[in-house]
Amino acid sequence: MASKIIDEIRKQGRTVLTEVESKQLLKEVGIDTTEIRLASSEHEAISLSQKIGFPVVLKIASPDISHKSDAGGVKVGLKSKDEVSKAYKEIMTSVKQKFPKAKIEGVSVQNMARPGTEVIIGMTKDPQFGPVLMFGLGGVWVEVLKDVSFRIVPLARRDANEMIKEIKGYRLLEGYRGSEPANIAVLEDMLLKVSDFMEKTPMIKEMDINPIFAYKNGAIAVDARVVLEEAA
Ligand code: ADP
Ligand code: MG
Repeated sequence: MASKIIDEIRKQGRTVLTEVESKQLLKEVGIDTTEIRLASSEHEAISLSQKIGFPVVLKIASPDISHKSDAGGVKVGLKSKDEVSKAYKEIMTSVKQKFPKAKIEGVSVQNMARPGTEVIIGMTKDPQFGPVLMFGLGGVWVEVLKDVSFRIVPLARRDANEMIKEIKGYRLLEGYRGSEPANIAVLEDMLLKVSDFMEKTPMIKEMDINPIFAYKNGAIAVDARVVLEEAA
């Protein structure tokens, strides 16, 4: 698929997309994301926060930092100009200390998404089978329990449905003890959109949408990371 973002990143000789770029790509594919903009100064972070509307989230924007929280690079629930200023300074101090060599583009500013059930969709390439999609519950579920399912691209709706239902934590998606159920058809749609995109876009090497917040009426990508293949 002809994507301006991918062309532009290739032209720059890069392979790792920032969160802002990854989410632009997701939007092209038809996946909802938080509203996100790049700020290259504290002043700009404040004015973008006011445009987007409080509460906002600030995150370090660097192609060299893929685990933003580990770098002290994520501040959520910022409710005022002062909180944004303070968060901006704290992020920069922490990141410069932990990753002194990282190339920093600035911080991304985004709206705070309402809490939902956290799920993840990932794509990796298997040397034998090609692109493979992964689905699972987000957070500790994926990190500690490895509660995930896999399917080879391309997926049919039935595959998407099965891979959602076969994870051990599926009951949490049905709405456990009064919690909001996730809309399974919406999650199937997301898996199918990623599957279609992977079929059409062989230059994508990896994709990680983690977390997605799943709701009764929709689902939204809260964090995303895309990696391109090295240019031939
Ligand atoms: P990391 O690079 O460490 O994975 P994330 O962007 O995933 O950073 O942010 C860490 C956590 O912060 C997420 O798992 C999510 O719980 C929370 N978070 C991040 N962005 C938002 C947002 N826009 N709205 C609400 N919560 C968020
Ligand atoms: Mg994440």
